[in-house]
Amino acid sequence: MNKKMFLIFIGPPGSGKGTQTDMLAEKLEIPAVSPGELLRQEVKNKTIIGRKIEKILASGKFVENDIVEELLKKRLAKKDAKSGVIFDGFPRNFAQMSFLEKKLENSGKNKNKILVVYIHISDKEAKKRLSRRRVCFCGATYHLDYNPPKKKDICDVCGKRLMHRADDKPDVVTRRLKLFHKENDPIMKHFVKEKILVKINGEQTIDKIQKDILKYVI
Ligand code: AMP
Repeated sequence: MNKKMFLIFIGPPGSGKGTQTDMLAEKLEIPAVSPGELLRQEVKNKTIIGRKIEKILASGKFVENDIVEELLKKRLAKKDAKSGVIFDGFPRNFAQMSFLEKKLENSGKNKNKILVVYIHISDKEAKKRLSRRRVCFCGATYHLDYNPPKKKDICDVCGKRLMHRADDKPDVVTRRLKLFHKENDPIMKHFVKEKILVKINGEQTIDKIQKDILKYVI
């Protein structure tokens, strides 16, 4: 049986998990799965779940575990996730970690490659980045200083108007960072004990971060 690869990315909001996991997904040909993205799609499509969680997303609080796990189960059942998955922003609390542990056990934990990548940036850097981040509904992400769109406020990919995510506004970012530190510490401790966690300096160029990650992945 072929070895499956499970890469688990954790890090504060704004640490660049999405950028790095998308780059890796292309290289490794396994999907990057982000609960944040799955949840935003529900809102965009105005589904029952989407209507229920819209305010929670905008507030920066965590969405209920049951909802997140249900969406993940559906996503992981798709064909492209058969040889492995890159998790972006999951698990975010201890209960989610238990859910993930079970999933990994079921797919033959000891036979597979499992690595947790913790991208570290300071709170000051996170706040600076998110205040200048702009996103498009199509999934493209920009930074007004480091990666600006060619035309002001317009997406290079699809031509739609860019947005400043409600949960990227300063007071919400402060709440998200506080929540991150509180919930992430026990998760980190567990993965350190399991000897599967690597810490990467997220305050470098995008390419250098990717290079640092690849040293552990390939
Ligand atoms: P992200 O796109 O990872 O920055 O996540 C955006 C928002 O989606 C978070 O602030 C939460 O409201 C929600 N979210 C993302 N991942 C999770 C998760 N694993 N558990 C609960 N809520 C989540």
